[in-house]
Amino acid sequence: MVDLFKLTAHELHERLVNKDVSAVEITKALFNRIDAVEQDVRCYITQTRELALAQAQATDEKIQRGDEISPLAGIPGAIKDNMCTKGIKTTCASKMLEHFVPPYDATVVERLADANAVFLGKTNMDEFAMGSSTENSAFMQTRNPWNLETVPGGSSGGSAAAVAASTAIWSLGSDTGGSIRQPASFCGTVGLKPTYGRVSRFGLVAFASSLDQIGPITKDVTDCALVMNAISGHDLKDSTSIPGNVPDFTKSLVNDVKGLKIGLPREYFVAGMNPEVEKAVRNAVAQLEKMGAQCLEISMPHTEYALTTYYIIAPAEASSNLARYDGVGFGHRAQGEDIVSMYKKTRSEGFGPEVQRRIVLGTYALSSGYYDAYYLKALKVRTLIKQDFDKAFEKVDVLLTPTSPTPAFKAGDISDPLSMYLQDVCTLPINLAGVPALSMPCGYVDGLPIGLQIIGKPLGEETILRVAYTFEQNNDYYKCLAPLGEV
Ligand code: GLN
Repeated sequence: MVDLFKLTAHELHERLVNKDVSAVEITKALFNRIDAVEQDVRCYITQTRELALAQAQATDEKIQRGDEISPLAGIPGAIKDNMCTKGIKTTCASKMLEHFVPPYDATVVERLADANAVFLGKTNMDEFAMGSSTENSAFMQTRNPWNLETVPGGSSGGSAAAVAASTAIWSLGSDTGGSIRQPASFCGTVGLKPTYGRVSRFGLVAFASSLDQIGPITKDVTDCALVMNAISGHDLKDSTSIPGNVPDFTKSLVNDVKGLKIGLPREYFVAGMNPEVEKAVRNAVAQLEKMGAQCLEISMPHTEYALTTYYIIAPAEASSNLARYDGVGFGHRAQGEDIVSMYKKTRSEGFGPEVQRRIVLGTYALSSGYYDAYYLKALKVRTLIKQDFDKAFEKVDVLLTPTSPTPAFKAGDISDPLSMYLQDVCTLPINLAGVPALSMPCGYVDGLPIGLQIIGKPLGEETILRVAYTFEQNNDYYKCLAPLGEV
């Protein structure tokens, strides 16, 4: 019999419905897998074994009663540790929130619980989602299951590595500038950053509120659609969530791209890109063309300003969002002689160096005298970047680019912040524009996965999924599991 942890959510669902296996058996198989490989990969900050088994048991009882079950019922997954879980620690991989236990669930958590999904635990990340390698976690280093010397990407590194290591069937990540897609690409999984507002941010610990989105990381495109069905939609608790009906994303799982127009923005094929990455992406484009898509090169002239724009807007919003960690409301509190020294000590002890750097950058950009020159200017450039996308989508249905200019790099190899920021050149313009984008595997270099990024129009997730599904069905990448343990 095949190892249960190797299967996808939709394969496990079929087995559950046919009563070939129980949800408790599946959950136990996942914890056995965690016991076997977690010490090498280190994805989980917190494991919720008792809760998971109780949730699995509830689904088994439903099945025994003959009730219909939802596609994610009894399917174990993991949640990034910046989404609030009632009664379960939510640390953001920061000393500041090391002991924080939220009194409520994030909307996505509530929706997945309503779908009877099973929660295995909370995953490691860069502190407050700032980083691209998960090396900024205050607690531990997650490694890439494809090669334990390399990083899993970040900031949702624990979530992507867990799916790649088969220690979770699905996971949730958050993406402010690439934090779902870049780790998905490094770990050879599928990761989708939905349109801004498609998924509620209620209960997501805020980093940069105008950019943050929650989305799924899964083994294949079908599972991505299933998690999207469970988490998407308007939420009264998040005024930026988009009203209106959500489509059934599984209807987009169509193996056909005939007549679709695909744009290749030349500015994304940057100097310094690994040639194997470019080759794999161009090969994917050629395949889709053969299947009937029409491909054309286009230009998005403001792309080169995206990095600097992002690194003004994101830290500015972060400096404001993180002002709440003052030792008074909640989180870490240091002793001080007076209130100012208490604030200072609390924030110096509680935040790691990257978070402190962002707060300083952001506070500077927002300060009187610099506000117009930096923050306001960045907002104007953001509009120009958004207009590049609007114009591109007048001509094409989706855009194809690499997700990251390189495959996973060795842990410790990138130590200066600017080189780390360059990791996001291909992903962060998408957040500035608010459009959706998915990363999926499209090849390998030296045994490490390469990610293909498919970018869609606002609320264009269905077209993205159609292209992704077609590419997946005509290739074998999604069947390749990370060579870890007995896999
Ligand atoms: N790596 C980027 C940053 O450090 C993006 C992070 C994210 O998407 N959360 O800001």
